Amino acid sequence: MAYDFDLYVIGAGSGGVRSARFAAGFGAKVAVAESRYLGGTCVNVGCVPKKLLVYGAHFAEDFEQSAGFGWTLGEADFDWATLIANKDREINRLNGIYRNLLVNSGVTLHEGHARLIDPHQVEINGQRYTAKHILIATGGWPQIPDIPGREHAISSNEAFFLKELPKRILVVGGGYIAVEFAGIFHGLGADTKLLYRGELFLRGFDGAVRKHLQEELTKRGLDLQFNADIERIEKQADGSLKVTLKDGRELATDCVFYATGRRPMLDNLGLENTGVKLDKRGFIEVDEQYQSAEPSILAIGDVIGRVQLTPVALAEGMAVARRLFKPEQYRPVDYNMIPTAVFSLPNIGTVGLTEEQAREAGYKVQIFESRFRPMKLTLTECQERTLMKLVVDADTDKVLGCHMVGPDAGEIVQGLAIALKAGATKGDFDETIGVHPTAAEEFVTMRTPVAG
Ligand code: FAD
Ligand code: NDP
Repeated sequence: MAYDFDLYVIGAGSGGVRSARFAAGFGAKVAVAESRYLGGTCVNVGCVPKKLLVYGAHFAEDFEQSAGFGWTLGEADFDWATLIANKDREINRLNGIYRNLLVNSGVTLHEGHARLIDPHQVEINGQRYTAKHILIATGGWPQIPDIPGREHAISSNEAFFLKELPKRILVVGGGYIAVEFAGIFHGLGADTKLLYRGELFLRGFDGAVRKHLQEELTKRGLDLQFNADIERIEKQADGSLKVTLKDGRELATDCVFYATGRRPMLDNLGLENTGVKLDKRGFIEVDEQYQSAEPSILAIGDVIGRVQLTPVALAEGMAVARRLFKPEQYRPVDYNMIPTAVFSLPNIGTVGLTEEQAREAGYKVQIFESRFRPMKLTLTECQERTLMKLVVDADTDKVLGCHMVGPDAGEIVQGLAIALKAGATKGDFDETIGVHPTAAEEFVTMRTPVAG
């Protein structure tokens, strides 16, 4: 049967755009549908605007610390509306770049909501198109628990477009988004509380990292409230919010920001017209080659709920394009040693196994750790400390994991990830000459294990 397209991609986010562009480059006839914004979550309400806000928040401490280097500044004043307007302008520019990338690579762009009609057919804006393969790359959506008053809460989607910086804000959750946004709001001057339901936030990260960040954020005056969960939110006559916790405490705030995970975006997608199956958590179930239970339909990125990071969606998108249209270049995505950063202030950077994971996996581990006050702060009042940690396999000397909390940890861990991917041993780290004076050189000068 002749199809309108070789590949129809639903969703022009990180994974969808990558797959569409590469497939078209390999000679396939490709269309991509986008209902909301070109570039998807990452470009519009994710990584990019978030990082811009983190940069914005960082200035507060730069101004403060500059005094130690002889600078006298006037009263610093921050204008949220300017930051948001400038951020919006940059995102508009990126949307245009994404449009050009798609069009220039020969991809047909359909702007509207796409719905599956059958395993080879999509409907969009009242038109139907057939395709040999359909790729679902529809991403995710913030998930707010169903508590009384949830309509008064916002998610990351709204946080990027607030008209004003709230004077007081409660951020709920203990994952990436909660920790990053608590840092943003606190840095920009809002009275910020982070509420997390468990004992210690950032479950899944190395224990020393979690504890270190807790201490550093507390030193900065961020109000961390663990073992705290909201029972209900009520709007008050003056527009403020009364928040009642499950332990009976009441808190007054101007904004409640939920960052409690993301669900797959499957709204009105028409999956019921196909044989696509969902896994136990509700994400699209796929095999190692991203094929769903319906052979003509594939899925990648956040909608399959494996690792919800842009570079992973990009890698999966590329793998699908190669598998379908350039099989000789196909190689599976390697989910080991994925580096990641939490852009809290200070940053977390991490790659490989945590100490807890390594021990659980049965490794005989050696732990190297360094804690120090970064050189940049020695002329300032700031008492912030950096943590660096290596998890080493005592039997083979292989470095299993690198973890850092400190300025530029995200930048530093990218290079370490290459070393770990290449199988570097602690001996290789020791033989590597440092770059002096940097914080990063500490990773090659840790000699004595703190624990075995
Ligand atoms: P998306 O980028 O979400 O793209 C899906 C697209 O599909 C969207 O544009 C959507 O409008 C469209 N769509 C959905 N349904 C339909 C339909 N039926 N028809 C047509 N179009 C449809 N990751 C990092 O690596 N680093 C970070 O610093 C980082 N920061 C983040 C910060 C925040 C606040 C958030 C929310 C996420 C962050 N992420 C970060 C995660 C990252 O954004 C996602 O992992 C990534 O965007 C997933 O890409 P995707 O292609 O799966 O989906
Ligand atoms: P995460 O899954 O990272 O964290 C969710 C948090 O919310 C956890 O602390 C979880 O607690 C808590 N939680 C879940 N359900 C509830 C509930 N019903 N009530 C109270 N608390 C709850 O999700 P995020 O929303 O922070 O981010 C989504 C994903 O986006 C991330 O996992 C990451 O993959 C990606 N991302 C990446 C970034 C980066 O690379 N820098 C930045 C931002 C997002 P518990 O631990 O107890 O389950």
